[in-house]
Amino acid sequence: MRSETAVPVLLYHSVRDDPPPWIAPFTVGPAEFGRHLDRVLASGRVPVDLDRFTEALHGGRDLPRHSVLITFDDGYADFARYALPQLVERDLPATLYVTTDALWPTRRPPLPPAAMLTWDGLRRIADTPGLTIGAHGCTHRELDTLPIELMHREITDSRERLETELERPVTSFAYPFGYNNAAVREAVRHAGFRTAMAVRDAHSSREDDPWRISRLLVRADTGATRLDAWLAGAGARVAPFRDGLPTLGWRIWRRTRARRRGHPDPWAGRRDPVAGRIR
Ligand SMILES: [Zn+2]
Repeated sequence: MRSETAVPVLLYHSVRDDPPPWIAPFTVGPAEFGRHLDRVLASGRVPVDLDRFTEALHGGRDLPRHSVLITFDDGYADFARYALPQLVERDLPATLYVTTDALWPTRRPPLPPAAMLTWDGLRRIADTPGLTIGAHGCTHRELDTLPIELMHREITDSRERLETELERPVTSFAYPFGYNNAAVREAVRHAGFRTAMAVRDAHSSREDDPWRISRLLVRADTGATRLDAWLAGAGARVAPFRDGLPTLGWRIWRRTRARRRGHPDPWAGRRDPVAGRIR
């Protein structure tokens, strides 16, 4: 069913032709990415930047009818090489959420091997018109399973690092894996962010919760048909909606597992670190 209020917030990860296997299911080739952007433009939706959406979510200025947002998570090097130039060419705003310890140089890369942006590279692109930079934690941990102090540190330290390196306020956060709960959302609000992105595989809307904005995860196999459906305001639920029982059950299971394991390296033994089951 098609919704008039749906705001698709697209979530991309890597944009390249030869990704490492672990990120391949969430990677789109540069040429296909260009075709996606052309479909966004052809859909008649109005691309808006995060500031505009933030204002609307907090009850300020109205949002254009049929808005759309484009976001990226993690901070892969291919963002600067393949994604950003194609966005700029089409005058499309976007937000990039960066896992701070993953950027080079780093002492302990928190993500499995992949070419990541460097801090110099991030500084070089940070002033691109239409580009917003947000925080995505320091080490990409499941925040809702961490001891409270560690959870707070992931949120505040990633923000401080970005603000120091880029010399600008950073006002939006994206939960690693999309995982969040009331305590995590409260910590993000308390840290001074104005919005936070979840995943949920759903459309956002003007009435969405600013602290768990729903996004649509673009996968390698998403394809034109599904993308067009999303752009038509169909193909997914429209937030806000309550968590279903499977999501709640999954959260409890992960918390129990984390407590048993004593919060080891979050990537240990994970076959598919980005996917898991993102909510
Ligand atoms: Zn991520």
